[in-house]
Amino acid sequence: MNKEEDLSQYKKIIWPEGKLFAFSIFDDTDWSTVENVGPVYSFLKDNYIFTTKSVWPFRGDQQPYIGGDTCDNPEYLEWVKRLQKEGSEIGFHNATFHTSTREQILAGLKKFNQEIGHWPRSMANHAGCLDGIYWGDSRVSGLNRLIYNILSRGKGKNRYRGHVEGDPLFWGDFCKKYIMYVRNFVLGDINTLKQCSFMPYHDPSKPYVNFWFASSEGANVNSFNKMVSEANQDGLEVEGGACIMYTHFSSGFYRDGHLNKRFETLMKRLAQKKGWFVPVSTLLDYLRERNGDYVITNSQRRALERKWLLHKIQVRTT
Ligand SMILES: [Zn+2]
Repeated sequence: MNKEEDLSQYKKIIWPEGKLFAFSIFDDTDWSTVENVGPVYSFLKDNYIFTTKSVWPFRGDQQPYIGGDTCDNPEYLEWVKRLQKEGSEIGFHNATFHTSTREQILAGLKKFNQEIGHWPRSMANHAGCLDGIYWGDSRVSGLNRLIYNILSRGKGKNRYRGHVEGDPLFWGDFCKKYIMYVRNFVLGDINTLKQCSFMPYHDPSKPYVNFWFASSEGANVNSFNKMVSEANQDGLEVEGGACIMYTHFSSGFYRDGHLNKRFETLMKRLAQKKGWFVPVSTLLDYLRERNGDYVITNSQRRALERKWLLHKIQVRTT
């Protein structure tokens, strides 16, 4: 990285192939099946938008808090592999939909590697897994952690233990060894990069994650549509920014045999623009090449955490 460059200030980026902005999606696999999200992916492909779909390698053996299909279903796995062949990235969403031990997580990572053909490049923690890494109140630090615990009434306090050495749920060393990018903060701006200009970044206070990325709010079809509104799309283009939407394609995008009309209209409009529509890790690789292996400072961490807490107060999601 050019030492003179101050990445705490957002600047326009020169995107590959003369593109004017970058756009990606991380699709959290909660409740997903081929039936309820397959048509969403066919639609995106028809519009040359290739993004990241997360998976669970294993079907759990406990009642899930939030479930969905897994790579243990041969038809589902075949479809996932087809998506990958067509240009999507497959990401990791913990080993399964409930808590897994260290051994099960390693087995999940190995199965991912075996079936997908490489170790996961990107991941997001699943809410129902206590093996979540730096999750719950460990997402934030210092005073912000205290505020988080007050806001969440202590529900996430020391609950998630993927990063806690010696714990049966510890797998931080595997995360560091095998996974490049982990999602943390979701923010309320379509231009994710404007809100987190140094991403992907390493945080020395969370050593088991190589690089973190932020994303933009759009957990279900309504909040997604609100975020990718016409005005926001135009703004993203003018700012030459980068958007990583965090969503659940099972949450209303396709229902009763039809794609959500507004989603269809908005994405067709976006696809007409000169955007770089690539999977999450392709986008992050590009930024990392440009920014170097950026290490976040204490004041940048505090400011980012504060921004997220303020957003969380407004929208009450992750
Ligand atoms: Zn999830």
